[in-house]
Amino acid sequence: MFENLSDKLQRSFKTLRGQGTITDDNIAEALREIRLALLESDVNLAVVTDLVEHIRTRALGTQVTTALSPSEQIVKIVHDELVNLLGKDTARFQKSSQPPSVILMAGLQGSGKTTTSGKLAQWLKKAGHRPMLVSVDVYRPAAREQLAIVARTISAQLYEGKLTDGEANTDSVLRLAKEAKREAASFGCDILIVDTAGRNQIDAALMDEMAALKKQLNPSEILFVADAMTGQDAVNSAKAFNDLLTITGAILTKMDGDARGGAALSIRHVTGAPIKFLGTGEKPDAFEPFHPDRIVSRIMG
Ligand code: GDP
Repeated sequence: MFENLSDKLQRSFKTLRGQGTITDDNIAEALREIRLALLESDVNLAVVTDLVEHIRTRALGTQVTTALSPSEQIVKIVHDELVNLLGKDTARFQKSSQPPSVILMAGLQGSGKTTTSGKLAQWLKKAGHRPMLVSVDVYRPAAREQLAIVARTISAQLYEGKLTDGEANTDSVLRLAKEAKREAASFGCDILIVDTAGRNQIDAALMDEMAALKKQLNPSEILFVADAMTGQDAVNSAKAFNDLLTITGAILTKMDGDARGGAALSIRHVTGAPIKFLGTGEKPDAFEPFHPDRIVSRIMG
């Protein structure tokens, strides 16, 4: 995770080694390299432009101190600006005043939504909650079966519901969701995780259905699940979902792959919503809360 970006940033800091102070001239080269390192790691262009400008302004405004060399100063500034970009705090989990709190999982097909629903349920169980899972993907029986398998694997409550043939429509999606919420309440489950139908691409039907689910369930969290391997596409679809649904957070999956990390650095800036968790493998426990400061430390090496 982030090794490539980390190496490239290290190289750009070296440009300032042996310099007495930070000047317009000697920082230009370092900033050029930082910009390139970020772009090559697939960070969104608008994010890179803003970030580099912040770094330049702060670097030039820094008092000459004897304690830190120019390269140490720039390392510190880049560190702080990356933390600002990702948000200072580890994101909190919103709950509703009346249980169950509903978590609506959104995302494209293949992003890891079902796997992540299970991971989240397991994480919440370990944190002392009683989550229930439901899949409202009435279009693909295999998707509902996949969630049933996940629920069995982690011994989590599941609402299966009943569907008859010809019920592949938004009405039955809403009916299943409503039944699941009632079932969760009567089972004493404090959280309902709703795995929704994905699509290959964002289309009006999907968005209408998500909006109807949001209206009916009044979720305390709408989490957008994004495949980190898809880089800028993940950021663009996060933006599209956010424009229509106002997501409360994002979960980046497949961070164990050779993703260049750009999506992780861009999503908050582009959507305003924090990254809340990372998926780091296929197993239920390959999942961790997103700590901006720890991620930045990893990037800074
Ligand atoms: P969905 O269509 O969005 O529900 O996606 P799935 O949950 O079915 O996941 C699609 C594929 O990605 C499956 O093969 C998962 O095992 C895999 N996957 C999900 N999350 C991760 C992850 O964090 N790391 C890795 N390596 N694979 C993952």
